[in-house]
Amino acid sequence: MLGLYLSIPFCRSKCTFCNFASGVFPASYFDRYVARLVEDMAAARARAAEWGAALPQTVDTIYFGGGTPSLLPPELVRRLMAAIRDEFSVLAGAEITFEAAPAQLADETLAAMVETGANRLSFGVQSFVDAEAQATGRLHGRADVFRDVERARAAGIEDVSLDLLAGLPGQTRATWRESLDCLAETGVGHASVYMLEVDDASKLGAEMLAGGVRYGAGLVPNEDAIVAMYEEAVERLAGAGLAQYEISNFARAGRESRHNRRYWERRPYLGLGVDAHSMLREAGGRALRFATTDELPPYLEGAGWARPEPLSRAQELEEAWFLGLRMNEGVSLATLRAEFGAEAVGAFDAVLGELAAEGLVTRGGDRIHLTMNGRLLSNEVFERFLAGESVD
Ligand code: SF4
Repeated sequence: MLGLYLSIPFCRSKCTFCNFASGVFPASYFDRYVARLVEDMAAARARAAEWGAALPQTVDTIYFGGGTPSLLPPELVRRLMAAIRDEFSVLAGAEITFEAAPAQLADETLAAMVETGANRLSFGVQSFVDAEAQATGRLHGRADVFRDVERARAAGIEDVSLDLLAGLPGQTRATWRESLDCLAETGVGHASVYMLEVDDASKLGAEMLAGGVRYGAGLVPNEDAIVAMYEEAVERLAGAGLAQYEISNFARAGRESRHNRRYWERRPYLGLGVDAHSMLREAGGRALRFATTDELPPYLEGAGWARPEPLSRAQELEEAWFLGLRMNEGVSLATLRAEFGAEAVGAFDAVLGELAAEGLVTRGGDRIHLTMNGRLLSNEVFERFLAGESVD
């Protein structure tokens, strides 16, 4: 089975913290962009064959990310979904997600999404406190989020996810709690909680470096406060029935994101559009990772995929560790040994022993998991797996 990711890099305004490959472009770009996506979709099979990679015909998850896919006009939603169905067989019951910005989803677009099979919406809320959301450049308030969740349900979409961001300028423990309580009150089945990591290239990051007051750089909570917010989210969301299943993701039973799961489980996906990443496998099983340009103009002018080098077995094993450990269910040693051999997996015993002694991982039966501290320091934990021994 294959997952499809379609990047829609258009936004109505650029959020102060954002470092994604997205921007504000004239609506006239939409048509050209969608035409390029359709072109790449049609070319993908030949390209995969040229590289000796398998491109599964059946698709079981589709994810429109961004950017703001909810800004697509209805006819372009239909054109994209029709192109997907022309090129691939979409499994009955496939998970089809659109990311959306609250207050930026027209009735006609929502109707087109539902009509063409979408069954999941993921809203970038960031904060339910209006002043916080608006200070980051968001164009919505709390009431818009509640309204959009209801509109999604009324249109037949039960599977709704909301994103929150811990560490926004001016955010306090009290306002964070308010956001968590509102999220719980919506009754959604899925939430994502991210800790703000300010990128120097964002407006906020530039202000933090150069000084200034426009974006509230001086009001960003310190690291300890952000960590406390994250820990509180894990606890309060669990209390609201949304159990953590991955470092940043929480869900009611059965509402986990099937698409995101395939990234952590290293199952194949094809990314289309600006800054879209893909992973396919060669006939021999080796993984090929490749990505598109992160700039819109060259993409529109036809910039395509470059031939990737297959990952070595050592690289794949490292990935299996750090992607698998993202999930609360952790990594099964037996599964890893079956894929990579006992000797290669055993080469990580020393690293695992050190991480366990430092309280960053724990072992339960056959499985290795991150602890709460391990989740908070996940990047440092994952780096330690890069020092593992080669299995090539
Ligand atoms: S809507 Fe999302 S992608 Fe667009 S600028 Fe804001 S955070 Fe970035």
